[in-house]
Amino acid sequence: MSFPATLGELRRSSFSEEKLLARRIKDELRDNLVARLRTSGEQPIFPGIVGYEDTVVPQIVNAVLSRHHFILLGLRGQAKSRILRALTTLLDPYMPYVAGCEIHDNPYAPICRRCRDLIRQCGESTAIAYLIPEERYVEKLATPDVTIADLIGDIDPIKAARGGHELASELTVHYGLLPRANRGIFAINELPDLAGKIQVGLFNIMQEGDVQIKGYPVRLPLDVALVFSANPEDYTARGKIITPLKDRIGSEIRTHYPATVDEGIAITTQEAWATRDGVKLAVPKYVREVIERIAFAAREDKKIDKRSGVSQRLPISCMENVISNAERRALRHEETVVVPRISDVYSALPAITGKLELEYEGEVKGADHVGRELIRTAIAKTYDQYFSGANMQQVVQWFELGGEIQIADGAAASDVLPTLRNIQGLMEKLTRVSVGPKDTAEAQVSAAEFVLEGLHAHKRIGRNEERVFTAGEKQPRMAEKPFEREEGPYRPRRPLN
Ligand SMILES: [Zn+2]
Repeated sequence: MSFPATLGELRRSSFSEEKLLARRIKDELRDNLVARLRTSGEQPIFPGIVGYEDTVVPQIVNAVLSRHHFILLGLRGQAKSRILRALTTLLDPYMPYVAGCEIHDNPYAPICRRCRDLIRQCGESTAIAYLIPEERYVEKLATPDVTIADLIGDIDPIKAARGGHELASELTVHYGLLPRANRGIFAINELPDLAGKIQVGLFNIMQEGDVQIKGYPVRLPLDVALVFSANPEDYTARGKIITPLKDRIGSEIRTHYPATVDEGIAITTQEAWATRDGVKLAVPKYVREVIERIAFAAREDKKIDKRSGVSQRLPISCMENVISNAERRALRHEETVVVPRISDVYSALPAITGKLELEYEGEVKGADHVGRELIRTAIAKTYDQYFSGANMQQVVQWFELGGEIQIADGAAASDVLPTLRNIQGLMEKLTRVSVGPKDTAEAQVSAAEFVLEGLHAHKRIGRNEERVFTAGEKQPRMAEKPFEREEGPYRPRRPLN
């Protein structure tokens, strides 16, 4: 496909003046959204955004239809950046601009002096270039040290001296991020971290199209769709956002964590890196559920800071590490299929602890301890999902009669399977997780280990650091009983009246 290369050709093409002159960025987003709403039917409006179909997405659609600047309020790891980036799918596939313009001027209505001079000089032969949607998205993480120069621009005295321009002329401005996002989308993450006077600068650009740079008034009537994200508590805290700026943000949209374990699994499955070369991977459903429930448990745990939240990146990184640990085992033993086990989840602790912001009580116990507790809770809940009502007495008895089995996370499936088969009442229970004697040794061992880990999580059997499963803590207590009985005679008797 060849595009018009000059202003004259552009005028005679489908990118006509009539069509583009007054088309502002928010009109463009709106028009393309309207077209999508008409044709998408049952298809999602923003593919790849899971779990927001009935909550966040309709509000974003409304904000775009209303031509609002908007802000997403949510805790970390709630796909805020992903949603903002998805807005680029509402941009035209190609946008013509005056070739060489740093702020991508509209050929029919240039705002910079350079382009106005250029068009006066070259007329219809002025060169035209094109941007694709990804090039029209600018993202900035707000930090307290962001300056007006970063965001809006700086007067470049050398440019001024060379060109013989006045200092306040637009020709002397070295453009910042916002002008470079002209005719595009500008996303600022963690807006409350932006210093007050930078917020004022931002507001002035939004409102009046002009701004002061180093005391010089510079006029830049930009056309930018501004979108923001923030932690809700920071945003609503008094004095963090200047009122006029808050006033100009048309819609405040709250994001949230996945509402159900299944939604969480869908997101984690989409995001985690799982397709690895030369590896046949089979992640059991119960392993996925345990990983997801770690995040759910963490979000409820009072040892973990509620204000910062527990990112969806926790189960995603955890899943990647779980697969790697299983992959390592499979490679060592030349196993043909990689089947993650619960022990791999414990080995993925390094992917968990760093994502927990601990409260004081959690800090005292240590991230490792808190992480293990969360895993254990997740195992217990998942176990109940499959095995509530199952009679495990035989299995527990095998251990109480002195049975022991070590299932190290690096142990080959073929090495541990025979011993697992010796545990009466165990293997036939695996039908509850859809595993039978015809499945691979890897799958059978993983499922059997899940049962033992479940019993351990419920404290019905014991397990030590070397991953040796033994009888539960009941045993030593029973041994203590005779001692208690002996105590009897020494108990002071109630005096008789
Ligand atoms: Zn220009």
